Amino acid sequence: LVVIDNVNKHFGELHVLKNINTTVARGEVVVVIGPSGSGKSTLCRAINRLETIDSGSITIDGEHLPEEGAELARLRADVGMVFQSFNLFSHKTVLENVTLAPIKVKKLPKAQAKQKAMELLERVGVANQAGKMPAQLSGGQQQRVAIARSLAMSPKLILMDEPTSALDPEMINEVLDVMIGLAKDGMTMIVVTHEMGFARKAADRVLFMADGEIVEEATPENFFSNPQSHRAQDFLSKIL
Ligand code: ATP
Ligand code: MG
Repeated sequence: LVVIDNVNKHFGELHVLKNINTTVARGEVVVVIGPSGSGKSTLCRAINRLETIDSGSITIDGEHLPEEGAELARLRADVGMVFQSFNLFSHKTVLENVTLAPIKVKKLPKAQAKQKAMELLERVGVANQAGKMPAQLSGGQQQRVAIARSLAMSPKLILMDEPTSALDPEMINEVLDVMIGLAKDGMTMIVVTHEMGFARKAADRVLFMADGEIVEEATPENFFSNPQSHRAQDFLSKIL
């Protein structure tokens, strides 16, 4: 579904993505881990063109992501993105947050968008909050709304960049449970997270990045029990 071919990206002198090659199959769940500054967020952002790349190519479902215009909007609608900081529209209700893009971008009739939104809010366990403003919700609830919002566009792929790292510990599991549910339902996911429980339960593959490179790619079992590189061993010894 996603083919990343020899991608390079610089920020000025800094080479942040170095010859990145990987593919993500439909239904696959890939967890990206690695030290701070290794390029995880940049890779995620490059996948839906929030960030340009200097060379190489990224295709989604066989299509090259265009740089701009209507084509980009259409392709981006296929790629959901969930951020660390939730990024809900603060002046809109929970329900409106979820119906907005389907109505505007997909031209879904309002009643239909609303019905689908309520189903999704139900699925992530916050249907009873539909009429509230985001600020009235806990962090865990807000992040579950953000997940429902991205699902509302029926994306082919969801990218998540540290979706639980802004949350208080007691709220992490409620979000992880939703993510595990999505993974089990066959959603294609690329998730940057240091939640090893999620990686073990839901990931098909772990991709370890350091200094802009993919240093290791392995199943979670192999990666955690038998990391090959010194850098991965060092990293794991710090977080486990
Ligand atoms: P973290 O775990 O801290 O989120 P990360 O692996 O997501 O780290 P990136 O955010 O992808 O790392 O950053 C990779 C490198 O690129 C870092 O050295 C960072 O300082 C640099 N960088 C990121 N965004 C920019 C930018 N807009 N301009 C210049 N440098 C940037
Ligand atoms: Mg990051």
